[in-house]
Amino acid sequence: DKKVVLITGCSSGIGLSLAVRLASDPDKTFKVYATMRNLAKKERLLECVKSLHKDTLDILQMDVTVRQSILDARDRVAEKRVDILVCNAGVGLTGPLEVQSLDSMRRILEVNLFGTIQTIQAFLPGMKARGRGRILVTGSTGGLQGLPFNEVYCASKFAIEGACESLAVLLQHFNIHVTLIECGPVNTDFLVNLQRAELGDASLQQVDALTLSLYEKYLRHCGDVFQNAAQDTEDIVKVFLEAIQSASPAFRYFSGGGVPPLTKLKITDPDGSRYIRALSKIMFSAEDQ
Ligand code: NAD
Repeated sequence: DKKVVLITGCSSGIGLSLAVRLASDPDKTFKVYATMRNLAKKERLLECVKSLHKDTLDILQMDVTVRQSILDARDRVAEKRVDILVCNAGVGLTGPLEVQSLDSMRRILEVNLFGTIQTIQAFLPGMKARGRGRILVTGSTGGLQGLPFNEVYCASKFAIEGACESLAVLLQHFNIHVTLIECGPVNTDFLVNLQRAELGDASLQQVDALTLSLYEKYLRHCGDVFQNAAQDTEDIVKVFLEAIQSASPAFRYFSGGGVPPLTKLKITDPDGSRYIRALSKIMFSAEDQ
């Protein structure tokens, strides 16, 4: 029997790459349900799987913020079970905190936090009843360490850590493995899709000069990091595969191999001051400024 995999957020990025890789598995191990909020965006995925047999991939509509759409997608899984659930959909929000509207902050939590949780809720009873299952969640360095100008995004990803860790403790009694794939910067549409305050925006006119100059440095730093250090989605997919193929997957995998050095600082220096100084230095003290 094929392993039935359902993935959220497959119109681009990590979700798309993972869906393509699993659906084109040479041994046809997987039946993939690639879900996306907006089916009008399915062309890119279809383009990547053109040569595939239809029996390893189906595309379903699913908006993780709409409970009924999750339940409808679940009901359309022909096998009537999902062995591996991948909660991947997510959005970013960048800019000085004082300009973020409550609506835009809510939106991030709706997708990243409640979207992930209510997706898990929908598939949990089935997994518990069968006494097996895998839940993989795309985590982020921003869920392990704070990043200036990303307060709400980090809050959403930190929250995911708490939710998943709590669940993992319980679900081992049901033979259900919860796994976070912690990603650093990845070359995807994430930067295009995120809500980001731009330097010329009217909303930034009220913001003080020091914040704006630090934000400018942040944007430059972020641009450099994505240009020089970002991983490709294929690298991330390999880590997902390692977790999927392991008989007993760990709770956390780090896309770059080990724990990122700055995240380590949080563990070796739990009062937090070294982390805060180190990140500030890295982000804000570039020489040309
Ligand atoms: P992406 O923007 O290409 O993919 C995110 C996907 O989520 C998109 O396809 C988008 O349509 C979908 N999505 C957004 N709202 C949705 C909703 N309400 N319902 C269903 N789908 C929805 O970016 P990505 O980098 O592939 O992001 C995937 C995950 O990886 C996210 O959770 C993100 O936080 C995480 N991540 C990304 C990076 C990075 O640098 N790209 C780093 C760490 C973690």
